This record gives sequence, structure tokens and C-alpha cells, in this order.
Amino acid sequence: MLKEVQSQTAVLMAAAEQSVLFTANRPDVVMERGEGMQLWDCDGKRYLDFIGGWAVASLGHSPGVLREALFKQSGELVHASPGFYNKPMIQFSKLMTEISGFDKVFFASSGAEANESAIKLARKHGAVNLNGAYEIITITNGFHGRTLATMSATGKEQWKTLFEPKVPGFRHVPINDLDACFAAISDKTCAIMLELIQGEGGVHEVDAPYLQAIRKACDIYGIMLIFDEVQTGLGRTGKLFASEHYGIKPDVMTLGKGIGGGFPLSAMLTMSKFDLFAPGDQGGTYTGSPLAMAAGLAVVEEILRLQLTENAASVGQYAIGKLNELSQRYPITNVRGKGLLLAFDVPEGTASALAAKCLELGLLINAPKPSIIRLMPPLIAAKTDVDEMLGLLQQALKSATPSQAVSATAIKEDKPA
Ligand SMILES: *Cc1c(COP(=O)(O)O)cnc(C)c1O
Repeated sequence: MLKEVQSQTAVLMAAAEQSVLFTANRPDVVMERGEGMQLWDCDGKRYLDFIGGWAVASLGHSPGVLREALFKQSGELVHASPGFYNKPMIQFSKLMTEISGFDKVFFASSGAEANESAIKLARKHGAVNLNGAYEIITITNGFHGRTLATMSATGKEQWKTLFEPKVPGFRHVPINDLDACFAAISDKTCAIMLELIQGEGGVHEVDAPYLQAIRKACDIYGIMLIFDEVQTGLGRTGKLFASEHYGIKPDVMTLGKGIGGGFPLSAMLTMSKFDLFAPGDQGGTYTGSPLAMAAGLAVVEEILRLQLTENAASVGQYAIGKLNELSQRYPITNVRGKGLLLAFDVPEGTASALAAKCLELGLLINAPKPSIIRLMPPLIAAKTDVDEMLGLLQQALKSATPSQAVSATAIKEDKPA
């Protein structure tokens, strides 16, 4: 029986390698089923998921409310056309504007698209209100997506020479360097776009005084301030939106990942004074599609009903304490993050091997950089899940001595891109 099941992975992997376009180094695992904090592969092996579908499965895997909403909505209307309003679109827009304090929302399917919308809105603002200003200042080591414009916005060293020529008009400055940011501001600047906690960059936060100064400068010069909360939004950091940690409101906020709980969905929110698009400026076939709207509505209502923001705050705090304890005995340093977006450093070049060892042991954790481990479990994670995660992590740390880990990494380079 076991042999038969195991050969399923081998057969599927061979088929995958034959026909799936290569874009990522993926392990020999084919995922089949999910429930709550857990995933199972096609061999029936169980994984405790501290990657959370890449900070996506806010309610855990295949949550009942999402399944029911999709079932109900798909029986009524899957897609009408972007040329019409639909009921769940209006309901969900009302909910999102109410909970965020923004006036208006635009829906799309991915974080990159939400950020493209923000980039376009910023340029429209520049054209309409700032004498044609078009430059957008972004932060080095940030991440805004993989469309050509959002890759150009992303200040990632490895992407510098990729897909040339880039979309022009982006200026990258180091995080928390106010002088560099102010030096980049000119009469060509229409917006500043940043993540409050860099997710893919390895969980690095912006300082409060830095953000306050930027907000002030934006107000003085009429520059649009955009917060990319695709990863940090909707409870992830222990506040509904990460901006609440700073008490600073942007002019535009983008959301993605956790908003659909696994259904492809993203949003861009703004105030009435930036309601600047003319018909045809922005849109998309799946903009506000009934099925996506029903999914988002169900997921966000459940995040609020179950108080998962508060859960993320307290379970995250618990995890930080426990990880700090672990750092007394193992080479773990710089435990950081907020809510359930956490990270710690490991010796340079050992992160991938540690994540691979955890995978073998049935724990999913992410290595965004060769020296960084990131945790972003579903927001339903309990302290008992953290305990189980720590047990497995400890086993992995015990078995992976640094020297072994380095050589393993050399064989399979971590490619977070
Ligand atoms: C994941 C992410 C994106 C891109 O979202 P996609 O849905 O992959 O297009 C953009 N910004 C941030 C901060 C992200 O974490």
C-alpha cells in the first residue's frame, strides 16, 4: 500500500517536470488536501503549515465559511461581466470601506494588480494635480509584485538587470533613511509607496518617526502616500491594518493575500479626493466578480467575527517569547515581527537547508533569504500549534549542524524570487 502511494508522487513529479513551465524550485511534494493549520500531500503525509499558503489562508485551509459562500454564490451567479454592478460587490465594498476608514475601493485578483492600480492612480494624480509629476519613490529590498511595473517598483538587487528596459519612473531609497528619501523628492514626485513591514524582504519594519516625517512631507508637497499592505493587512500583524501600529493613514492602501483566504482577490482603497480614474483608465475582466466578492465578504466577516486580529497579536507574542527562549540554545538571533508575521536570523547560508529539514519533518516554514526564516501561519493558529511548530523546529535545528546546512544550501540555492 505504502509503496503504491509513494509511487504516486514519483509519477506526478515526472508529469509535472514534463509539462509545468519552470518558474520555481519546488520540492518533490504534491499537495492534495488542506484543513485548518494542516496540509496533506498525495502520499498522505501531514504538514503543519506555518507558511499559511504564503500569508494567504487567514482562516486556515478550506474553511467552512469560504466553501459555503463559494457554493451558494456559484449556484446564483459566477460572473455577470465587469460592465455591471453585482450585489456581493456592493456589499463587500461597503464592508471594506467601513472597516478601513477609506471612501472607495477597487477590486482585482492579485496583489500585483492592486499595486498596478495604485501606481496608475498615483500617475493620474500627478497628471491632474501635480503638473505631470510621475515619479514614485519606493524602498530598496521591498516587494510589490511581478508585473513589469510592480517589478520595476520593487527595489530588489537581483531584479535590476531583468526584463530590461524597466518601466521608468521609480526611485529606490534605503529603508528608514529619511535623508535619502527627502533627497529623492522633486517636483517630478507623485507618490511614495512602501510596505510598513517588508514581507518578502525578510520582515523589516519602518520606524515610526521616519513614517511620520514622510507623511508630513507628502502633505506639504501633495504627494500621494501608498501603503502596500498586501501581506500585512487584515489582521496579519495583530492590528486590522499595520498602519494602526503607527497611527498614520496613507492616501492609498493595497490589500491582497489574506483578503480572499485563498480565493484570488485583492483591493485598492483610497479617499474620495483621489477618485480620479476616467472610464477605461483601470479595470479588468474579473474586477469585482461575484464569486470573488462573495469569497472576500465571507472571509473578512469571519476574521472580524472570530477576532482573529486579536488572536494573531496574542499568539504572535507567545511565539516571540518561545523563539527567544529557543535562541538561548540554538543559533537563532534577532527574533522579530508583529502578530503572525514573524522572522528570525540563522547563520548565513543555512536557512534553506533548515526549511528543507522542517519540510521533511512535516513542518512548513519559509526561507525568504539565505539567513532568514519567516513564519506566517493562518490567523487561526493557537498556542498549541506554536508549541508543535517549536518542537519540530528544534528537531530540525538539532539535526542540521551549521556545516551540513551550508553544504546543503550550496547544492540547492534558495531562490525567493
Ligand atoms: C505578495 C505581495 C505582493 C504581490 O501579490 P501577488 O498576489 O503575488 O501579485 C505585493 N506586495 C506585497 C507586500 C506582497 O507581500
